[in-house]
Amino acid sequence: MNSQNKKIIVFAGPSGVGKSTLAHMLLEEYDFFNFSISATTREPRVGETDEVDYHFLSKEDFHQKISNDEFIEWEEVYEGRFYGTLRNEVEKITDKNNIAIFDIDVVGALNIKKQYGDEAYVVFIKPESVEALLTRLRNRGTETEEQIQMRKDRFVKELSYENKFDYILTNKTGEIEAAQEQIRAIIEKHFK
Ligand code: 5GP
Repeated sequence: MNSQNKKIIVFAGPSGVGKSTLAHMLLEEYDFFNFSISATTREPRVGETDEVDYHFLSKEDFHQKISNDEFIEWEEVYEGRFYGTLRNEVEKITDKNNIAIFDIDVVGALNIKKQYGDEAYVVFIKPESVEALLTRLRNRGTETEEQIQMRKDRFVKELSYENKFDYILTNKTGEIEAAQEQIRAIIEKHFK
């Protein structure tokens, strides 16, 4: 069990970099991690399930929750698309003395760090290059070329925040095992 004071591990970085693959590895290998399900106003992708991948909300519901102060952090990550972490989602996990795993964007991650301090461990995951990221997004085939360009612009901005993170991990294409080994080492050192 977790004998340290950590309540949260955050994986942040650009879309398509492998954050969710690494988060799912932790969920499978360690029983004290639970996934913090974010809320979003974007449409579900094929294969995504409401209340499992995200709480899919209408813009009206999302804004109502902002007014009710139900979010720990929220952001308009892309124009017209809102994402946020619900307070009760995290409390549900930490009340059981489990650790919440977040898959959120860079600014959201740093907001969490500001609020939770040493209780949160924030990991910035980046690809080996911008080109490698674009190739992965194109191969995933879930975004239009315009959306891919938006994600690229955002990533270039996000890179300027990398030195604010507890750990910077490069997830090279085809080398997920090496990234997984680094994550396991973090867990052994900071969460056990
Ligand atoms: P996607 O639409 O690809 O699922 O997510 C787009 C971006 O929003 C990703 O970088 C993802 O990590 C981020 N994101 C997902 N949930 C949250 C959240 O609760 N808060 C913030 N700030 N970003 C989030």
